[in-house]
Amino acid sequence: MLEDLMRPHILTLESYTSARDDFSGSADVYLDANENWMDFSGDGKNRYPDPHCAALRRKIEEVLGFKMENTVLGNGSDELIDMLIRLFADPGKDCIMIERPTYGEYKVFAEINNVRVVNVMLSEDLDLDVKAIKMEIDNSRPKILFICSPNNPTGKSFSISKIREIADYNPAITVVDEAYADFDQSFVSAYSLLERNERIVVLRTFSKYWALASSRIGILVASQPIIRAINKIKAPYNLSISAQRDGIKALEEREQRKAILSDILNERARLYKALSAFSFVRWVYPSDANFILIKVDDADGLYAYLMKEGIIVRNRSREPLLDNTLRITVGSKAENDALLEALSEREKSLVS
Ligand SMILES: *Cc1c(COP(=O)(O)O)cnc(C)c1O
Repeated sequence: MLEDLMRPHILTLESYTSARDDFSGSADVYLDANENWMDFSGDGKNRYPDPHCAALRRKIEEVLGFKMENTVLGNGSDELIDMLIRLFADPGKDCIMIERPTYGEYKVFAEINNVRVVNVMLSEDLDLDVKAIKMEIDNSRPKILFICSPNNPTGKSFSISKIREIADYNPAITVVDEAYADFDQSFVSAYSLLERNERIVVLRTFSKYWALASSRIGILVASQPIIRAINKIKAPYNLSISAQRDGIKALEEREQRKAILSDILNERARLYKALSAFSFVRWVYPSDANFILIKVDDADGLYAYLMKEGIIVRNRSREPLLDNTLRITVGSKAENDALLEALSEREKSLVS
């Protein structure tokens, strides 16, 4: 039973309800929530937002295909990662598992919750090491196994058959974080596995492709027992009315927005080629995301140089398997030109 994987006290917990859960439809007079009747904002911000984000979730079903009954929204997917750990992992007792190098927030939220983190390394070619992962599942019995695909910061998507094999083997929860899925044109979502494996959870975000990092909208897609349990621990008003409106508007504008995808993919290809040509760049990692990881001769030196030039990239050199690497977001043409220009200057100064 899926519920057996959850922390027992959550199952019996009584969650917060408001008077607006007691009726559906619309009333003329709302005197239940101690809001201020005066709408200074002019667009309804004096009222609490819909705790279920129903309109946005309906739009998500229509446009992205994730069934409404299988979704819950978070204040960014970071909040959803935190809620998943709080739902399944007992502090001081349970552990979660991650495949490094990967996104840093899984570890941070686990540690905040006093939940141990078990690391399994990716293989030398930065792919999932299925055998090692299975062995460590048997060893440590993690409550949640996180897989990030396309992986941050390496940029590659993992094969869906490997993800399926791991998730089927794992008796606990497998979370597949698909934050960068939109940038991989041959991507197969783990959502396709949900029907046969109710222990799979998929995470998506509006922060990358949908260009709403500041609105803080994350999507959790899962089987209904998990959705019910997350709704129990979710803060009722975790998405502002502005965020809900921003998300709906973005999805409504999907056709007008397609051009930015080809722009980013074209720029990614241009950067890939241009970066490969510098003498101090040893390797450019192929990317399925909107960033590129490069291995260089002296990452700390190059990072500091670029910063001095007013160009901020991410130094990932302290991650296992990633010594001397920088992660570079694919920016606008002008931003990418500025980066390449600065790197050309660097090349000249090295030669002379
Ligand atoms: C950027 C990113 C997210 C997005 O987090 P939000 O809280 O939704 O902004 C999630 N997962 C990964 C791997 C990311 O790189």
